[in-house]
Amino acid sequence: MEYKIITAPGQKQVMLFRGYTFSFKGMPRIYAYCSKYYTLGCKARFRLDKDGKIVYADTIHNHNPPVYRRTPVGKLVKVMS
Ligand SMILES: [Zn+2]
Repeated sequence: MEYKIITAPGQKQVMLFRGYTFSFKGMPRIYAYCSKYYTLGCKARFRLDKDGKIVYADTIHNHNPPVYRRTPVGKLVKVMS
């Protein structure tokens, strides 16, 4: 599975996977929760190993992916496949 890490100026790093964004919880970055976890109670989440490889994925969302009018600007720091 492939995901991207996006770093936007002045914002936290987010994980982008199939159009959905995930926020990291704590350090090191092992747990990633859907950005709608708090607002919509979405249960989609990832668990990564120390190398950034996905070891667990629950990708069932209770909402549609966020719509971006523009591609998020940010620096791509890692791409896993
Ligand atoms: Zn979600």
